[in-house]
Amino acid sequence: MEKKKLYKCAVCGHVVEGSIPDKCEVCGADGDAFVEIVEMEAPGPIGGLDRFLILGNGSAGFNAAKEIRKLLPEASITMVSKETMKSYIRTNIGEYLDGSEPPEKFFLAKDTWYEENKIELLLGKTAVRLLPEDKKVVFDDGTEKSYDKLILANGSHNFIPPVQVEFDHTEKTPGFVLNDSNLKDVGGIHTLREFADTKELSGEIAPGKKAVVIGGGLLGLEAAWELKLLGVDVTVVEFVKRLLPRQLDNEGAAIFSGIANRSGLNLILGDSAQYIKIKKDPALTNKLGAKVAGVSLKSGGFVEADFVLFSVGIRSNLELAKEAGLAVERGVIVNRKMETSVPDIWACGDVCQLDGFVYGTWPAALGMGKTAGQNAAGIREDFKKFTNSTIFNSLNAKVFSAGSVDFDDPLLDQVGTRNDIEGTYRKVFFRDGKLVAGILIGDTTKQIKVLKAIENGLDYAGAKEAGLV
Ligand SMILES: Cc1cc2nc3c(=O)[nH]c(=O)nc-3n(C[C@H](O)[C@H](O)[C@H](O)COP(=O)(O)OP(=O)(O)OC[C@H]3O[C@@H](n4cnc5c(N)ncnc54)[C@H](O)[C@@H]3O)c2cc1C
Repeated sequence: MEKKKLYKCAVCGHVVEGSIPDKCEVCGADGDAFVEIVEMEAPGPIGGLDRFLILGNGSAGFNAAKEIRKLLPEASITMVSKETMKSYIRTNIGEYLDGSEPPEKFFLAKDTWYEENKIELLLGKTAVRLLPEDKKVVFDDGTEKSYDKLILANGSHNFIPPVQVEFDHTEKTPGFVLNDSNLKDVGGIHTLREFADTKELSGEIAPGKKAVVIGGGLLGLEAAWELKLLGVDVTVVEFVKRLLPRQLDNEGAAIFSGIANRSGLNLILGDSAQYIKIKKDPALTNKLGAKVAGVSLKSGGFVEADFVLFSVGIRSNLELAKEAGLAVERGVIVNRKMETSVPDIWACGDVCQLDGFVYGTWPAALGMGKTAGQNAAGIREDFKKFTNSTIFNSLNAKVFSAGSVDFDDPLLDQVGTRNDIEGTYRKVFFRDGKLVAGILIGDTTKQIKVLKAIENGLDYAGAKEAGLV
């Protein structure tokens, strides 16, 4: 039988069949980030006829299912999602804010893949209770599903900071403080997490409309830019005094702020929302019968808005695990085999916490999903040491940032070069003589070299040989 050619993106782990693409459709890395991989042969049934239940069909759940099927051709696999869509590339949903339907390449597998791989896919079904002692999950429609092995891949949600909502500053709306579950009680408050959110947002978007994006991190800026491209007048409000605070050091942020200022977005840094002003609209059926009018800032300023998009970070979906008695902190606590504190339950992706850290990135969810699948299927594998990295391809700029460090840490040694004419910036950071992080702006072609240098802990001489200093 002829073997398929498979290529893997060294930045985010996305695998493509056939030939190397110009650009990775998940993370935007250039084609030279792809390396050929050899598919592991299925070792044949080990855990045999176990019933596997996977909650979530995102990057983590999908890759767990794929791995189990590869290892156990006969096992029963059920994957459940509260969303109504087959597994898709969540990182790209911002491209569909114009209300368009996604093409086939937006999905992680062809429609026929699930049947061909004997994966029972239950969509539009929300798990509401987990009963580990009975090895059962209960769903919102009252049905139950038993399992032998359970994988929690139920992700995270966008955090909504507790902001007061008021008709005007003198007439306080009784006790109405926004949170994760009451956003829909006011018209014009949004987050961007699921494909369905793009449909809701697209109804608000029109040239000349005004939007406030709260949060100037990677996702907030990407969304702001997509809105701007659709003709919306966008103001970004960021609490920290610089943009991309988790991806850039001070010098990089100063260069990036030039890019952001030229982008046409209105930027308000070092400020935050004090309250959201709303106005009555008899046509609206939401609980307050009202819609956003603007955002009042802590500094005293006011920004008019037709709608507000919150992008201030994520929180793991912990309720199911917590109520069932699994050990949780910021995420469901797992070890390197993705085992939770309860036998026969694994967790992976945004829902879990490993070594005190919720990774919250696509490549981590992919790798953890694969590891959870392997271990649930009976192969003892560890989730490998992992370098978190991000690619920002928006605002007509390219930024690459890798390494889990605080870029302002005075104990880091830094070596950088910048060319203000070409708009490029490269800096690498060393701790105790080993390269631990790197930032590229403008020219990101050395991204794989930076990742490899971090993975191999190169010293200064090694970094020089690799052309990074
Ligand atoms: C707009 C956007 C852009 C992003 N860009 C980047 C980027 O550039 N780079 C990067 O690394 N990361 C990026 N991320 C983050 C990345 O997408 C996530 O880290 C990754 O998708 C997490 O995968 P996951 O499978 O753990 O969780 P998710 O993708 O959140 O999947 C969770 C699944 O669980 C389901 N679910 C949840 N609760 C239940 C329940 N109770 N019952 C049944 N099903 C349930 C959900 O419907 C979903 O199918 C971005 C995220 C967003 C939203």
